[in-house]
Amino acid sequence: MSGFAVRGWCPDAWRPMAAGDGLLVRVKPVLGRLTQAQVRGLSAAALAHGNGWIDCTSRANLQLRGVAEATWPALLEQLVALGLVDPDPAREARRTLLVAPDWRAGDDSHRIATDLLAQLGALPALPSKMGFVIDAGSAPVLADAPGDFRVERAADGGLLLRAAGRQRGVVVAPGQAAEALVRIAHWFVESGGSAAGRMARHAAPLPGWAAGDAMPAAGGPRLAPGRHALGRVLGLPFGQVHAALLSDKAAIRVTPWRLLLTEGVDGTLPGLIDDPADPLLRADACAGAPACPQASIATRDLARQLAPHVVGRLHVSGCAKGCARADSADVVVTGRDGLLDLAFHARPGAQPAHAGLNPAGLRALFGID
Ligand code: SF4
Repeated sequence: MSGFAVRGWCPDAWRPMAAGDGLLVRVKPVLGRLTQAQVRGLSAAALAHGNGWIDCTSRANLQLRGVAEATWPALLEQLVALGLVDPDPAREARRTLLVAPDWRAGDDSHRIATDLLAQLGALPALPSKMGFVIDAGSAPVLADAPGDFRVERAADGGLLLRAAGRQRGVVVAPGQAAEALVRIAHWFVESGGSAAGRMARHAAPLPGWAAGDAMPAAGGPRLAPGRHALGRVLGLPFGQVHAALLSDKAAIRVTPWRLLLTEGVDGTLPGLIDDPADPLLRADACAGAPACPQASIATRDLARQLAPHVVGRLHVSGCAKGCARADSADVVVTGRDGLLDLAFHARPGAQPAHAGLNPAGLRALFGID
């Protein structure tokens, strides 16, 4: 397994990453959308070659869990045949686009993303964690989503190209946005950005043509569970869905917010969240024990118990590493040697307000019998 144990880069299907429960195999659906046939095929592949669990990532990708090294080649072959993985590993590595999930055929987001996909071969090799954001609907919705270079709706209604770490960007003509992304990617590499790894850490001044002062438009409303003009939005508890749930469903769009948009369907799925007020939408919990060898507690059942009793954001973490959430949360429970530390407005591992609790003691603090 050591050949897969490389950390510090973004895994993809050609470069899976080892986790406690097997290989993680990342799938990057084109434009963030899976056709019904792709949903069926992916579900069957996840059940046949993995443990059936599929993560939804913050870049609107899907991640098959629990894949055995021995069956990974067969899985890869299926994913390529389904059109979910590029047969060329170099092209797959360059395919790091996050597209506003509510794009419509022929709109600016769809057109620019399609243009960029057609120009993948013109992109330079970029550090593996870098990505592009295409957010050209009537108002930006991906401002908080990770990305190094983005095309988004400008305050004056046009389009702008904006680099990570900059509040403002440069106006681009509608037909030239993809070319501008390719051009700025080349500037990044040629100006030494690869050593920094990400645009936000690259100190070089932007080239004159990319250093505009156009402001993005005010952000648009976020998707939320419930009806949507394209179908129905459903929440994924802890950002995961089991393949068995998806196997006979419609086309879906993946979002960076632990939500799936089922196209043309107005029904719910058991186990997924259909109520925008559901407290699980405010809860983060990593895989925990036994899936992660560094965990000393089971996390998700505990989070389900606590979430209705927590005001604000809850984070239950199997250890101090805090994989499930980078930011602080209002209530944080961290596993330590099989016991629980409770902290407030903190990250896992912070100085606890209550240390060394057992589950009953923790529940009692929240008034749970
Ligand atoms: S936070 Fe700790 S226990 Fe949870 S997944 Fe990360 S390493 Fe494992």
